[in-house]
Amino acid sequence: MIGTAFPLPSTDPQVGQQTSLCEVLMWIAGDTFHWLHNGHHRYPPAPGEESLTDMNIRHLRQFVGDRVKVFQFTKDQERQNGADWELWIHNRTHGVGLRIQAKKASKQSRYPFNYTVGKRNVYQCDLLVQHALAVGCVPVYLLYNHWDWAGGGEEEAAQAGLLCDHVVADGSHHGCTLLSAYRVQSEVGRKADGQNVRHKVLWAESLPWNRVLCDRRGAANASTSRSSSEIISDVFAAVKEMTLVGMDRSPTYSAGSTPGHGAGENVAHAQTPDVNRDDDAPVILRGGPHRLPPHVLQLLEADEAEPPAPPVPTVATVLVDVSDGRAQMPPNWFEGCVRYR
Ligand SMILES: [Zn+2]
Repeated sequence: MIGTAFPLPSTDPQVGQQTSLCEVLMWIAGDTFHWLHNGHHRYPPAPGEESLTDMNIRHLRQFVGDRVKVFQFTKDQERQNGADWELWIHNRTHGVGLRIQAKKASKQSRYPFNYTVGKRNVYQCDLLVQHALAVGCVPVYLLYNHWDWAGGGEEEAAQAGLLCDHVVADGSHHGCTLLSAYRVQSEVGRKADGQNVRHKVLWAESLPWNRVLCDRRGAANASTSRSSSEIISDVFAAVKEMTLVGMDRSPTYSAGSTPGHGAGENVAHAQTPDVNRDDDAPVILRGGPHRLPPHVLQLLEADEAEPPAPPVPTVATVLVDVSDGRAQMPPNWFEGCVRYR
């Protein structure tokens, strides 16, 4: 049911209890989904990427409460690299950082992936990878979508380390999905060889962000309550899987696969990579969760109104603390909306 309103996450949680990041990310995805759908189909124009990102960061600040710190930077600092932002899920010593480039789907379900930056026409995806690695982050695209793709994509993706089954019955959890930047790199590389970027293949492979970054203590796939270090380890493993799948696709192309046959390559996608194959992973994804880098430790102590300059320009840096001892509020505001599969 497109456009159906559903309750906002509570802004007045019970003392000592917090909404989970998974629920907030799922709510944000629904908000994005409905806003974008309405903008494309009912009340044009559709919102811009920057508006969606600003709103989503605002929702994180508002609904994750005192577990989140948000640092926003001036437009001047982002100019040279587009509109990347950083999201860190941490327990104050270790964590997983994502360097995020948002891409809004057009009415025709296409994304401006082959965007170039600067006088030298460097591909934005190449810069995203370079900048992410410089700050200890995993490079990802965050797709803003306005349609549901239940069936197909998620079944394949489930083998790439989804952490939970927390979804919304109307499919609006597909409003915000993650895709490895390495996957986009290989696809844009095909474009440079004169072949088309296969938008449908890319969005079908992308994963609802709440299901990759689930921090629920009793996640659907976990029988017992998870500690913060287990949550960080799980998120690390899911992001690693997603990235390895994204990276493993490029040898498929260079091996001479026929372009434009997405269905055939979905079979290849089912060949889940070996998680222990650390040599194939970027350094930031080898071993287990890494210690937080200096710029994040510095931000943990910083005033949100006066952040130190980021090592690489960013629109915003969002730090989400999943430390033990922070009880989570039951998802009562999702009753009737959430479907557990
Ligand atoms: Zn979840």
